[in-house]
Amino acid sequence: MKAYVKETLTGFYSLLAGLGVTIRYFVKPIVTVQYPREKLDMSPRYRGHTEFLIDPETGSHRCNACENCARTCPSGVITVTGVKVPGTKKKRAVTYSIDYSLCSLCGLCVEVCPTHALKFSNEYRLAGYSRQDMIIDIMARLKAQQRALGLPEEVPPAPEAEAAAPEAAASGEAES
Ligand code: SF4
Ligand code: SF4
Repeated sequence: MKAYVKETLTGFYSLLAGLGVTIRYFVKPIVTVQYPREKLDMSPRYRGHTEFLIDPETGSHRCNACENCARTCPSGVITVTGVKVPGTKKKRAVTYSIDYSLCSLCGLCVEVCPTHALKFSNEYRLAGYSRQDMIIDIMARLKAQQRALGLPEEVPPAPEAEAAAPEAAASGEAES
């Protein structure tokens, strides 16, 4: 009889404890996100694939196609091509893509970029049926962002003033 009462009380206590947990969570704010109908707010430090940073001055990218990132990338997944800007000695990237299926998100490409042209995106909804689908056209992505922001799709840098030559000539005359 004693064992029967003890078992009943233990069962009743378990029931109350379980109900307590249910009631506690019933009144707490809901944290479940109804994905894909709702989007997640990613942490500012979240690392999605790399993408171009939009320069607030030009409304475009800062990549000069130096290929530092491509040479540094341990996975060799970056492909960048550039063209010379007419009237200057500068180059400007015209294509930039990464094979995200092999990217380790190490961040070396972001670190070595001399113009701080790259950043990590907050993209978390990537899916594909083949590895080819994971090749991300960063330039196309930039253009889509520019369209969404109402910016012109490409703003080439202003041609450099040819200022160095007269100075060099003047210093040569002073020496002779
Ligand atoms: S994050 Fe690392 S692996 Fe990915 S593209 Fe940049 S350098 Fe390469
Ligand atoms: S992203 Fe930076 S490091 Fe890579 S090619 Fe462009 S300027 Fe050079």
